[in-house]
Amino acid sequence: MKDPFFQPPSGSQLPRFAGVPTFMRLPHIPPGHARFGDVQLGLIGVPWDSGTTNRPGPRHGPRQLRDMSSMMRAQHATSGIRPFEALRCADLGDVPPNPADIIDSMERITAFYARVLDAGILPLTAGGDHLSTLPILRAVARNGPVGMVQFDSHTDLNDSYFGGTKFTHGTPFRRAVEEGLVDPKRFVQVGIRGTMYDEDDRDFAAANGIRLILIEEFHQRGPADVMAEVRDIVGSDNTYITYDIDFVDPAFAPGTGTPETGGPNSYQALQVVRMLDGVNIVGADLVEVSPPFDASGGTAFLGISIMFELLCQMAAQHG
Ligand code: MN
Ligand code: MN
Repeated sequence: MKDPFFQPPSGSQLPRFAGVPTFMRLPHIPPGHARFGDVQLGLIGVPWDSGTTNRPGPRHGPRQLRDMSSMMRAQHATSGIRPFEALRCADLGDVPPNPADIIDSMERITAFYARVLDAGILPLTAGGDHLSTLPILRAVARNGPVGMVQFDSHTDLNDSYFGGTKFTHGTPFRRAVEEGLVDPKRFVQVGIRGTMYDEDDRDFAAANGIRLILIEEFHQRGPADVMAEVRDIVGSDNTYITYDIDFVDPAFAPGTGTPETGGPNSYQALQVVRMLDGVNIVGADLVEVSPPFDASGGTAFLGISIMFELLCQMAAQHG
């Protein structure tokens, strides 16, 4: 199973501060590359934040996440999983967005992911703002709706912004349910908190059977109990995992556009991903890391650590 071509260099051979940065120091294999068809899991950057309604910056996320990813080693410390040996992983590069045109950008993203899925590659994405997930879902759910686990302090279920604008990072999952991309009965959101515009997003969730686990419930029940319910809701069918870094308390992840206090700590941020065992993950993303607000780089470091956890879950299930 272990293919030498797809093994990242060890930090004891090439120091981890050296080399051209790719995700996890993996080979860069964009669509069209001779080895593209051999890739089983692709890490993809979506450097795009045109859906941002407040403080921008996630367009710079993939580059900083790649840089910080050199901190990752080959083996998970708890599970012992060695993801790069379990699956042939590669950095597929960035989707080229059109920062001046939201609709064109979404079409480019969907087309890129369709090509990835046509090749049988599992996608693991670094955003980008949370609108990035909608065009990804249009590709991932092309054969029918998927279940979804969303870690976030916001529902992103609003109808529109600024007098009728339907495509923003506060509206993607309203669109995803309307478009039949996500099965609302197999859709659960964890960590919801913060001040609200009104009740409209929560009313939409209740009317459609979307389960919202608010932060009070998360802290009262604890991660293990909450995540057992999450696994029960999504069951064994195809499920997409979307992880907004603002799920985590801003003490640990201040580098994001819309932080909300009172969130999970950095350990719980990893723990919830470890508790996705048995979930049939058909794709995952980590979004909303905003380097201009990440003075220490610590948010990107946490972000790539979460991506490593997601990678290990996907490798454990598909390897
Ligand atoms: Mn979000
Ligand atoms: Mn959010």
